[in-house]
Amino acid sequence: MAGTLRKCMMLCCSCSIKREDMGHMANDSYEEAIAGLKKLLSEKGDLEAVAVAKIKQLTAELEATAAKQFNPVERIKTGFTQFKTEKFEKNPALYRELAKGQSPKFLVFACSDSRVCPSHILNFQPGEAFMVRNIASMVPPYDQTKYSGMGAAIEYAVLHLKVENIVVIGHSCCGGIKGLMSIPDDGTTASDFIENWVKICSPAKAKVKAEFGSLDFTEQCTNCEKEAVNVSLGNLLTYPFVREGLMKHTLSLKGGHYDFVKGSFELWSLDFGLTPPQIV
Ligand SMILES: [Zn+2]
Repeated sequence: MAGTLRKCMMLCCSCSIKREDMGHMANDSYEEAIAGLKKLLSEKGDLEAVAVAKIKQLTAELEATAAKQFNPVERIKTGFTQFKTEKFEKNPALYRELAKGQSPKFLVFACSDSRVCPSHILNFQPGEAFMVRNIASMVPPYDQTKYSGMGAAIEYAVLHLKVENIVVIGHSCCGGIKGLMSIPDDGTTASDFIENWVKICSPAKAKVKAEFGSLDFTEQCTNCEKEAVNVSLGNLLTYPFVREGLMKHTLSLKGGHYDFVKGSFELWSLDFGLTPPQIV
């Protein structure tokens, strides 16, 4: 069964029988419970009427719960089927080209937040943007051991894919930034990873506290969402291949902030706010 599951998670379209099996698996526990109750009912012989009614009620409740239950496998199957029929099969030329390789123009840093997917909000199509998503879309400074995952993505995008733009995108109501702003002044942390990660942008927090200390917490967080992008843009300069790209003018750095409350997107250049941002 495990082998079937692994194979089917590849979502190929040639294993319809096995995928059917997988669909049934998800409801096994409910089906077994319902079958058990129904068996009891059929053998009710000497059961009291009250007990029979109770079993019928339980059966109905279980069936209703099973019907309502979110099925992640179904969701993934229908999602992929829709993508395949609506996009993949309708753009054969694009996907034939992408099968040969990728040459995206953008390296995008975005938050892992489920509401801010750059492919949706900026309409990036497959092949357009090489993407890194993490808590609060932060770019850590060059560090070959502590942040090798981030460094590898930047190195690959800049040196091998030769992206022309790096865009770091912050967003409204960012939980990661709220977490950063909530770390006590003595720096003590309560989480295993989160706070140490968002501390990458501590300079942004310090700036906001110094310049906007009189604003309420929510407004401070909004300012920090943008300042954190600037800290990340600054951190990009610690990567030698990024500096080289900037000096050769083969690379440009941009900051962005997506506000999903107002429905707006701000875009600015590396010069840390000296150029007025463009509101899109
Ligand atoms: Zn976020």
